[in-house]
Amino acid sequence: MSPYVNNPPYPNNYGSKFLVLDRGEGCYLFDKNGNKYLDFGSGISVNALGYGREDLAETAYNQMKKLVHTSNLYATEPAIELAKRLTATGNFAAVHFGNSGTEANEAAFKYARAYSQRIKGDGNYKILSFSNAFHGRTFGTMSATPKEKYRAPFYPLVPGFETCEYNNIEELKKTLNSQFAAVIIEPLQGEGGLDSVSSEFCEALHEICKAEDILIISDEVQTGFGRTGELYGFQTFGLKPDIITLSKPLAGGLPLSATLIPKKVNDVIHIGEHGTTFGGGPVTTAVALKVMEIINNSSFLENVKILSNYFKSELESIIERKKTAVKVKGEGLLLGLQLADPELIPSVMEKCQNNGLLVLRTGIDTLRFAPPLNITKEEIKLGLEIIEKAL
Ligand code: PLP
Repeated sequence: MSPYVNNPPYPNNYGSKFLVLDRGEGCYLFDKNGNKYLDFGSGISVNALGYGREDLAETAYNQMKKLVHTSNLYATEPAIELAKRLTATGNFAAVHFGNSGTEANEAAFKYARAYSQRIKGDGNYKILSFSNAFHGRTFGTMSATPKEKYRAPFYPLVPGFETCEYNNIEELKKTLNSQFAAVIIEPLQGEGGLDSVSSEFCEALHEICKAEDILIISDEVQTGFGRTGELYGFQTFGLKPDIITLSKPLAGGLPLSATLIPKKVNDVIHIGEHGTTFGGGPVTTAVALKVMEIINNSSFLENVKILSNYFKSELESIIERKKTAVKVKGEGLLLGLQLADPELIPSVMEKCQNNGLLVLRTGIDTLRFAPPLNITKEEIKLGLEIIEKAL
């Protein structure tokens, strides 16, 4: 019997053929027939601590027995504690919890517009994003996501969103002015091809944003929580954000997001101006506390860097042996292998999958690797052997 299902009753925006996964253990996933796959994708950079974790399952189970949901009308201890620990990671005064990356970014846009229009005056509401960015699929975040493939049938978009080329300082200087409330930027573009922000571009951005009181939002949905070898991706690339947005790995695979805002923004927000029903519930925040305890630890983060160096050097040696692979991209354990021909990508991914390795794609011509952060060197080696064979 095939481990695949064809045409389940999902909308056509998804594919028609799916591998049916059943369970996970460590860095491995098992399909419904018991076939084993090493996971270099982590459910798109989510499962940072791997699968089958008794500690996370027990935390969720114990909290579910006590209390599952309250709404924002009440507080719970796990949510308060997580908010305290998150704000303590930088110059932040408050956290808005949500359930997904797009919600974290929508909240950031709302806070930024409220701040800018209350401090600088009505009309100063523009938001700048960059070429190849991906910030989500709801209307606000789609308006900040310039690729047509995400937008085409959905116009009109939200007014006030503009785009300029990533890392193009001249264009940035021409575009950005005091009418902008915020700039949203991925320090390393997770979906757009794994390019990262240059230090010169960060400097220019900091200078203009400081002069014009424009908020910098670092979209850390994919790069946050240890993925680049620091707690946040902006630390790796020298960006200095005012607001950060987090989601994917935050609650060990459960849906949770966080928008961290500074005091000056929090000070101008009024009661009732934003909210959520499910965001920051006691179960997801209790699990996130456990996840944070494990990841926000210097030896854990150091190990991500060690694994990354090994992974990158092995990818470089694959390039020396295989003409089809041309460039190593990314940072930490968000890495990529750019191929000479984008048309090779689907067949290489399929071959990897048939040989027991799940990988992702980014941009048009790059294989993306985002394994659980607690993967071992041996597992990386094994995965790379499968990739080389597929190439
Ligand atoms: N921002 C970035 C950088 C992302 O990579 C993603 C998803 O891939 C999002 C936002 C949107 O997150 P979600 O799919 O949880 O809404």
